[in-house]
Amino acid sequence: MSEPSASSFFHYLLRLADDRLVVGHRLSEWCGHGPILEEDIALANIALDLIGEATLLLKLAGTVEGAGRNEDALAYFRDAIDYRNAMMVELPNGDFAFTIVRQFFFSVYSLLQMDALQRSSNAELAGIAAKAAKEALGAEELQALADSGYYNGRTLKSCEEDGIIAYVPPPERHSRLAAQGRFTHEDFAYDAATDGYRCPAGELLRPTKKLKENGDRLEVRYVSRKSVCDVCPLRGRCVTDKQPTREVVRWVHEDVLERHRARMKDAGDMLRRRACLAEHPFGTLKCRAGYRHFLVRGFNKVRGEWSLMALCYNFTRLLSILGFDRFMALVARLDPNRACLPLWRGRTALAATSFAWARFCTQIAPKRANCYFAT
Ligand code: SF4
Repeated sequence: MSEPSASSFFHYLLRLADDRLVVGHRLSEWCGHGPILEEDIALANIALDLIGEATLLLKLAGTVEGAGRNEDALAYFRDAIDYRNAMMVELPNGDFAFTIVRQFFFSVYSLLQMDALQRSSNAELAGIAAKAAKEALGAEELQALADSGYYNGRTLKSCEEDGIIAYVPPPERHSRLAAQGRFTHEDFAYDAATDGYRCPAGELLRPTKKLKENGDRLEVRYVSRKSVCDVCPLRGRCVTDKQPTREVVRWVHEDVLERHRARMKDAGDMLRRRACLAEHPFGTLKCRAGYRHFLVRGFNKVRGEWSLMALCYNFTRLLSILGFDRFMALVARLDPNRACLPLWRGRTALAATSFAWARFCTQIAPKRANCYFAT
């Protein structure tokens, strides 16, 4: 991550964490003071959830900052001026009614925020958001679906620990080996009884004693015996002269991935449904409007550009489902003050939107596409 974007991300994480840290502590003040025992316990539980979310967010913030500060240092060793929480969450509790109304506002806000953040391009933040959304909904079980870009072992482990059932297609591994006609990782079966991998020739690859560090993952190396591989009839598809033994690497929490792989075998329908819901708008925008790149740069500008595209898409979709007259009738019903909205005004707005959309599709998008293809 580049310097400015890492810094903005760090501050954004602080804002998310500080809201939860402060409101969590405010709620915890009710512990032992609630009007009735059940409410007392319920508020303490919500406070614990919020402080737990703040801990995860601050831990991630510490990693993003890279200055050696952990979640405790960020939570309790900053000056008051450095906290980024909203003013509302730090107001004194007042009476019970005030606490409940504030908590209602914060929970609704948090749920919408965490729902959106589940689609964050940062897999760890997406995992924290999925956990927070689950806690806010009070759901015992939550399913999360994402495309293969989100596949990440640590996030899958966090989801499992938090009771979130994740479905994420694993990316193609070892396609280079497969293209060469050589055995891939999938051709080696793990045997839990002997803690070894069984190769296609039926020989056992044994674990080495020393664990291997791969970034923040600890892995066990399983290696074949050279004397066995030297005389193996399948060696042409397995080892090379340069590397005469075969090695398979296993993450210490690989059982999480194995359970996920087993789950994915029956996930076809669910993934197709996700693709219909999530990919269809993108496909339509790309094909119909030739929308392949953003014109602007920077998160806020891209968000604005995307919001305009989404507005056009949603509006045209709405009209194609309802039809213009039914749409106008529904608008009038939703807001009686606008029942007298002149039809011609609606039609004019529709015509203007259609004109803008058509112009975008026929003139702006092709030029932009050419421009990008040419560069
Ligand atoms: S070369 Fe070695 S590891 Fe590969 S299949 Fe033969 S015995 Fe097994």
